[in-house]
Formats: sequence, structure tokens, C-alpha cells
Amino acid sequence: MDLELNDTQVAFRDMAAKFVDSEIVPHVREWDRREEVDLGIVNKLGELGFLGLTIPEEYGGVEADMLSYALVIEELGRGDSSVRGIVSVSLGLVAKSIATHGTEEQKQRWLPLLTSGDGLGCFALTEPDAGSDPASLTTRAQRDGDDWVITGQKMFITNGTWADVALVFARTSDDGGRGITAFLVPTDSAGFTANTVHGKLGLRGQATAELVLDGVRVPDSARLGEVGKGLGIALGALTKGRISVAAGAVGVAQAALSAATQYAGERVQFGSPIASRQLVQELLAESAVEVEAARLLTWRAAQLAERGATRQELTMASSMAKFYASETAVRVANNALQVFGGYGYIDEYPVGKYLRDARVLTLYEGTSQVQKLIIGRGLTGVDALS
Ligand SMILES: Cc1cc2nc3c(=O)[nH]c(=O)nc-3n(C[C@H](O)[C@H](O)[C@H](O)COP(=O)(O)OP(=O)(O)OC[C@H]3O[C@@H](n4cnc5c(N)ncnc54)[C@H](O)[C@@H]3O)c2cc1C
Repeated sequence: MDLELNDTQVAFRDMAAKFVDSEIVPHVREWDRREEVDLGIVNKLGELGFLGLTIPEEYGGVEADMLSYALVIEELGRGDSSVRGIVSVSLGLVAKSIATHGTEEQKQRWLPLLTSGDGLGCFALTEPDAGSDPASLTTRAQRDGDDWVITGQKMFITNGTWADVALVFARTSDDGGRGITAFLVPTDSAGFTANTVHGKLGLRGQATAELVLDGVRVPDSARLGEVGKGLGIALGALTKGRISVAAGAVGVAQAALSAATQYAGERVQFGSPIASRQLVQELLAESAVEVEAARLLTWRAAQLAERGATRQELTMASSMAKFYASETAVRVANNALQVFGGYGYIDEYPVGKYLRDARVLTLYEGTSQVQKLIIGRGLTGVDALS
């Protein structure tokens, strides 16, 4: 594993850091309070190429490697998980799936829109009764002449009310996981509705939606990949997507650690800065080790993805990174809040938001339990997830 970043990777990281400090950090508290990021940020992300990082240049991307992508995502996560999620989903799950599995027509139609930030994508797999077990989803796509007619409901869909295109996974036969097909559904289609999910613990600036598809008609040319291969497309996207979640988690954890370290140096109790207290240093030291370990696992997964590791190697590496980094983000943000004392509990200071935003990272793109079962399957060869 290469621990030295090359010049291009450093340049991407520095560009993202500058962008986060000038365009995101000054606004996060306001966005969190009003429960919506300023959507002008999407075009800015597009202008910098952040929405097309791993996409070929001919479709508006910048063809960066996976580690550069992870470095940018870490920086965005340091700034605001809600903004980070826009990129992880629209680029990492949707545009990347189109680039990998799409027809030339699909790539020409959607990728320039998504990479420029003129449009966004959402990834619609989860349903009210199908979360950890996506093979049980019930949204149905019925063949009707040259068209498909899709009916069903999706739940917790990031970017759902903002998206121009939804990558929808629907059942085309009753053959379990082999009966699922992927479709690129324009969100202005008749019968398509997106309703905001209110009352989230964190990620308040991000659009999370319930989608209702009521007889949505799309042509067969909207099908992404072969009939019955949708679950494989979804799981393949999530394997790489977990590297993005891990990188975002490292960003949140780093932000929490930096804030707590600075505060410990400034806050005086018993006549000296609390940083001079060993129990406070313990909170910071344990957090620092975990952040570094999470970062290394994330870099390793990103490098394996770049070097064309086997599916088994990549699946293990990305689940390990996602599991460890997301749990780390929660622990480190919680430690940071402890260092801030009562001030950590109010939103004048950033650490409460870090903890609220970190909490979802152990839930989506596979819960921590699911990651452990994927890792256990890789170790033992026994699938406890079926
Ligand atoms: C803010 C937010 C954004 C999201 N964005 C998206 C998105 O863009 N697209 C999308 O498709 N989905 C999205 N999701 C959905 C997310 O991926 C699911 O919530 C997640 O997969 C868990 O599914 P569930 O909520 O139905 O929980 P369940 O699957 O019902 O799990 C409940 C609990 O049971 C445990 N459990 C379940 N099965 C097992 C098992 N076999 N062994 C051990 N424990 C088990 C889980 O670990 C968990 O602790 C989002 C969710 C949130 C909260």
C-alpha cells in the first residue's frame, strides 16, 4: 500500500479543503437550522469537477483516481455531511453506475448533466419493508409493449426531492434477488412523487425523501443493464459507495477531533486549560489513533478499488473501512462533545452536529451489523445474510 500521496492527489485534497473552508464551513450552522443546504453549492461542486471525479472526461468528468475521490470526500465530510452526501450519492452511486453499466445513449443523456451539477441523481433501493434485505423489495416493473410501468414506494432516499433522475430498483420477476432490474427514471415522469422525510436526528441540510411511483411509464431504453441484473448493479455500487461513506466518516471524525483539541487548549477550569488534564488528553489521544486508523483503512480500500482488486478483496476492504470509520466517527464526535462539556450540547458550537450527522453513518449503505456479516462471510465462506 502506498502511503505517499502524489501531486495530483495533494492538489485535489487542497482544492477541496480550500473550498470547504470558504464555501461550506461559514454556512453549516445556518443550513442545519433551516434544514436545507443552499442548493447553489451543487453548481459550485460541479464547477470544481467534484461531481465528476471518477467519470471519463468525454462525459464531463475529470477521471481522478479513487484515492483522490476519497480525499475530496473526506474534506467535504469535514465541512458538512449533508453536502458530502450529495456527491457520494449523485456521483458515487448514480453517475458511476451509469458510467459502468449504461448504454452510450444513457451516458450521453445523463452524465454531462450530473457531472456539471446542473442536475442530481438519487439511488432508490430501500423500501419501507426492505432495508438490510434489498432482495425482498416489492416495487414492481411490469412490461407493457416497449415500455415498463413501475409501481411502488421507496424510503429514505438521499437527494430524493432534488434529483432529476432516480436510479430505481424494481422487481421484474418473482425470482428473489435475481428478479430485480434497474431503471433510470426521470423524476418529472407522470406518477412520480417525492415527499420530504422530516424530523431527522442529523443530516438536516440534506433532502431525504420517500418516493412514490404510481404507474410510472418508462421506455425500455431507460433500463440500466440487463433484466434481472439490478441487484448486482446495486450491490456493486454500494461496495464502492462504502469507501465514500468511510471517507466522509473520517472527515467528520477529523473535524470533531480538531474542534475538541482547539477547545481544550482554550477552555480554562481549575486555573489552567483543560488540555493540561490527563483525562481530557485521554479522550483526544484515543480519538486521534482511531481517526488515523480509519483513514488508513479507507485509503487501502480506495487503492484496492483503483488497482482492480478481486471482488472479494474489495468487498472485504470497503466493508472494513465503512464499519470502522463510521463507528469511529460516532465515538470521536461523542468524545469531542465530552471535551466541550455543556457547550457541546448547544449548536453555537459544531460538535453536537458532528455527533448527529455521524450517527447515520453506521446505518446507511449497510448497517454495522450488515458490514460485520459481509466480513464474516468473507472470512468463513458462510453467508449469514441470506
Ligand atoms: C438519512 C438516510 C439516508 C438514506 N439514504 C438512502 C438512499 O439514498 N438510498 C437508499 O436506497 N437507501 C437509503 N437509506 C436507507 C438505508 O440504507 C437503510 O436505512 C439501511 O439499509 C437499513 O435498513 P432499515 O432502516 O430498513 O433497517 P433494518 O434492515 O430494518 O434493520 C434494523 C436493525 O436490524 C438489524 N438487522 C437487520 N438484518 C439483520 C441481520 N440479518 N442480522 C443482524 N442484524 C440485522 C440492522 O443492523 C438494524 O440494526 C438512507 C437511510 C437514512 C436514515
